[in-house]
Amino acid sequence: MTATLIDGKAFAAKVRAQVAAHVTTLKDKHGITPGLAVVLVGEDPASQVYVRSKGKMTVEVGMNSYEHKLDADTSEADLLAVVEKLNNDPDVHGILVQLPLPKHLDSDLVINSIDPAKDVDGFHISNVGLLGTGQKSMVPCTPLGSLMMLRDHHGSLSGLNAVVLGRSNIVGKPMAQLLLNESCTVTIAHSRTRDLADVVRRADIVVAAVGRPQMVPGDWIKPGATVIDVGINRIDAPENGPGKTRLVGDVDFDSCVEVAGAITPVPGGVGPMTIACLLANTVTACCRANGLDEPEGLTA
Ligand code: NAP
Repeated sequence: MTATLIDGKAFAAKVRAQVAAHVTTLKDKHGITPGLAVVLVGEDPASQVYVRSKGKMTVEVGMNSYEHKLDADTSEADLLAVVEKLNNDPDVHGILVQLPLPKHLDSDLVINSIDPAKDVDGFHISNVGLLGTGQKSMVPCTPLGSLMMLRDHHGSLSGLNAVVLGRSNIVGKPMAQLLLNESCTVTIAHSRTRDLADVVRRADIVVAAVGRPQMVPGDWIKPGATVIDVGINRIDAPENGPGKTRLVGDVDFDSCVEVAGAITPVPGGVGPMTIACLLANTVTACCRANGLDEPEGLTA
């Protein structure tokens, strides 16, 4: 068997087009332009790239983008003051503080200072609690994008066995909650899980978020299972020339594609969905803030 490729790049373009259509309606019918504020502290090169591309895509869908770049030695009080100002700004519907923060700043404190209604990353403890109790919340972008692709591929997920590899707060745990809310039977595996291969072999759905290049081989995959590869790992690629690197996921694509029923590639799978879902969350937050109906299909 050769698995169907789940094209995250095309899917993300579709989500962004839906977002852009809603933005147009919000502007034309209600005179409201959704706004997303991104706060970057320091000069981490990867974070700078992410923030730039978030800003660019925010503008492309017709929303206002506000970037706040702060020095690496910004004090916690000053950062909290910036967040507070954004919390109180009616033109800002979504706030994202780019992680990781410099070591002297308490990420939990900063994230929990964001107004939960504007917490488009879905990391505030209120949103974590709402998601965990099956209530309306802001849903973390990477798991939300993964869920959208699973729903699109399967229709109903009810009763399927799902194994989530990884238990981080930003991917593994919220992914497991979302799948549980879809009535999957969910197992969360991690570095202490025994007989991991056997656990994964029982899964109709495998979501891999471990941060270990190509860790899951094809012979762990149940024939016909759907594999969502969240991992983004850069490895050496001498075959492409001296000093060259390439991106790979947490599953060994070449062997898994022979066994799975459907699989997301890396790059071009979950990655593009993450920013698309950030934009979707900003529109959702904007509609909720203004007492308007939420766009359908853009949240969990
Ligand atoms: P993380 O915080 O480092 O968590 C990794 C998880 O994997 C932990 O729960 C860890 O278990 C588990 N793990 C590590 N080694 C394992 C092993 N040998 N067997 C089983 N479980 C193992 O990582 P993360 O932030 O969730 O990110 C995971 C991956 O997704 C990374 O590659 C990251 O780059 C990628 N990512 C992609 C996107 C995107 O937009 N596509 C967004 C976020 C993250 P313990 O808890 O026991 O240590």
